[in-house]
Amino acid sequence: VIIDVHGHFTRAPQALYQWRAFQLVTLGSPRKAPLKVSDDELDALLHQWNLKKMDATGINKLIFSPHASHMGHHVGNPLVSRYWTETCNDMIAQCVRLHPDRFIGVGQLPQHANAPDTKACAEEMERCVNEHGFVGFNLNPDPSGGAQFLPSMGDEYWFPIYEAMVKLDVPVMIHASATQDPQSHLNACHYTAVDANAVVDYCLHPELWDRFPGLKVIVPHGGGATAFNYTRMRSIFINEGRRPFEECVANLWFDLAIYDAESLEMTVRRLGVDHVMWASEMWGSAYNVDPLRGKPFDETIDYVNQIGWLTAEDKYKLFEGNARKVFTRAKFD
Ligand SMILES: [Zn+2]
Repeated sequence: VIIDVHGHFTRAPQALYQWRAFQLVTLGSPRKAPLKVSDDELDALLHQWNLKKMDATGINKLIFSPHASHMGHHVGNPLVSRYWTETCNDMIAQCVRLHPDRFIGVGQLPQHANAPDTKACAEEMERCVNEHGFVGFNLNPDPSGGAQFLPSMGDEYWFPIYEAMVKLDVPVMIHASATQDPQSHLNACHYTAVDANAVVDYCLHPELWDRFPGLKVIVPHGGGATAFNYTRMRSIFINEGRRPFEECVANLWFDLAIYDAESLEMTVRRLGVDHVMWASEMWGSAYNVDPLRGKPFDETIDYVNQIGWLTAEDKYKLFEGNARKVFTRAKFD
């Protein structure tokens, strides 16, 4: 079984984007407008995009979440974020109901840069797990999109989310959304920068795992080049008299939405076969055809299979076993 732990509904129905457009022009008086998309319309889109790619490339199961760059946690006020989040999560749930054997639901959170706390996130987690059977959530460390300073991931600001994660036994995947910084390209810079920040920030707070045993945090895109800077971090953590970096980083999980064979192999070697999971992040930054290879950048199953030193058991962990450990609520069979 090949499980892709990172895929988004980036080819969603026009009606969803129209819903958001209407919300954006009525920001002053947020309300929860109904949204109805037929099963037939949704099914056609799934077959046209995600299912088509899954069938063509041999992906059996997809951890499926809303369009991340559209989460827009910097827009409007917390109520705007809540209504939009509920609408997006309900649509993911509808997709999962259509193909429960292929899609596994993960939600976005009603975060907002100006929210005084993260209690609304915990409520939405509870709703999505209990009503929709979701198995995880995407967590944005920077809901302001670079415009404000948010508390460290070790701060109690985030504790309601961590408490809900432990109570519901669900992981989060660190996932940025928009950036308002003109110097920071969304997919090329902001996403991977937020990933890299989150890795170090969590490693600076290993006490979180003492306080919240069983906390499961996945950092995508190889942790934003964590393997590349691994030894720099080891040095800094020694300089500052901290717990060893290699010990702290072992609290985290990583995905392999990395589109370079050498970087992918280095990530597996540095972070360890027990901490990484294969992912494509379809349809995301790497859907185009690599002219050097003649196939899409995000088709990297063969990169894993070509790593000569991996055993069959190692490959099982990367494609399936680790995902089963992390997404304990998912029904993969
Ligand atoms: Zn993503």
